[in-house]
Amino acid sequence: MNVLVINAGSSSLKFQLLDTKTREVYAKGNCERIGIDGSFIGYNVKDGDKQKLEVALPDHKTAIKHVFEILAGAGFDTDKIEGIGHRVVQGGWYFPESKVVTDETLGWVREVAPLAPLHNYAEADVIEICREMFPSIGNVIVADTSFHYNIPEKAWRYALPRDVVDKLHIRKYGAHGTSHRYIWRSTKELLGDDVHKLVSCHLGSGASLSAIQDGKDMDTTMGLTPLDGLIMGTRCGTIDPATVCYLVREGGYTIDEVDTMMNKQSGLLALSGISSDSRDIEDGVNKGDPNCIMAFDMFYYRTSQLIAEMAQSMHGFDTMAFSAGIGENSATMRMGVAKELEWLGVKVDPEKNKVRSDELRVISTDDSKIKVLVVPTNEELMIALDVEELLGK
Ligand code: ADP
Repeated sequence: MNVLVINAGSSSLKFQLLDTKTREVYAKGNCERIGIDGSFIGYNVKDGDKQKLEVALPDHKTAIKHVFEILAGAGFDTDKIEGIGHRVVQGGWYFPESKVVTDETLGWVREVAPLAPLHNYAEADVIEICREMFPSIGNVIVADTSFHYNIPEKAWRYALPRDVVDKLHIRKYGAHGTSHRYIWRSTKELLGDDVHKLVSCHLGSGASLSAIQDGKDMDTTMGLTPLDGLIMGTRCGTIDPATVCYLVREGGYTIDEVDTMMNKQSGLLALSGISSDSRDIEDGVNKGDPNCIMAFDMFYYRTSQLIAEMAQSMHGFDTMAFSAGIGENSATMRMGVAKELEWLGVKVDPEKNKVRSDELRVISTDDSKIKVLVVPTNEELMIALDVEELLGK
């Protein structure tokens, strides 16, 4: 089935057209700076070179029009596109699984948008535009929170007053669910009956862990929002919640300033003082920069602590998988985290760890109690497979 996957942000729109049977990617790209001066579309068609189309993109509708023109130019007229899968960041309490777009399900994306205002409104608008422009193509909503929705209540409930929690739908929703689901699927395909309890580590500029037991999610590190849990590129992760009150009362910051500080000015960026990108910080470590050394140390410390926490929620683990930008590419970060976990039986082979590859691979030693894998994630494929399942004839 030829599926177009769309991942819309407030000023960007990523797309990928792929075949679910052969898993071949026909085209992919990103419309950037939508609604801002200097907008353009960077894209590849099949194995061709990267192209850049500098074009005014005043709104998402114009961006989608151009995407369909690019696809038509590559031989994929609208009638060859059999379904559209939309990544939705926050599914709230309505999407324990992916759902076909109807007036009702689209309304739900908007209803839960206050939980993720920067994403859900734009995503809902894009879904609506696709329905209007291409009424013959079915649309599917794939929420990043779905995989985590059925974690045990003791894992998702917050110890806040029940009336407040109920009224405002406060709970752990998690994120990166589509990626964690894919990581489980790939790990299971490789290891078969040898995997039961997996700690899935999605370590990108946003980062989260998931405890997955026989395919079912048991807990995850992100919470009501993607700010919780691990130290990330620019996000602080878990801190004492009273810090927010203290910053407002004593620091004189507004609540929006605190929001920006914690989401955009914290994490590895704040610790290193130079960059949110692990590659830049690694350069700093190699030059002996003490702030960069501390940034990496804290990343290893917190990540390994939370891996142990995830393992606890399953009363053990047999496998852990590194994924996303850092997890797939940074041998240094993988080894740093793994070393912290040696006491639990995690042993990574330095030679296997060093290999650079786009393939799923095992990097633990043969005598490691815990199997350690690198799993290139593929959220687009996971979304497309959901579309096939819901719309495939
Ligand atoms: P997101 O999708 O959340 O933006 P990614 O999964 O693309 O994030 O991860 C981006 C991060 O991955 C970068 O900030 C960088 O720290 C890290 N990264 C990407 N490529 C490499 C690499 N080749 N070596 C080391 N780290 C890398």
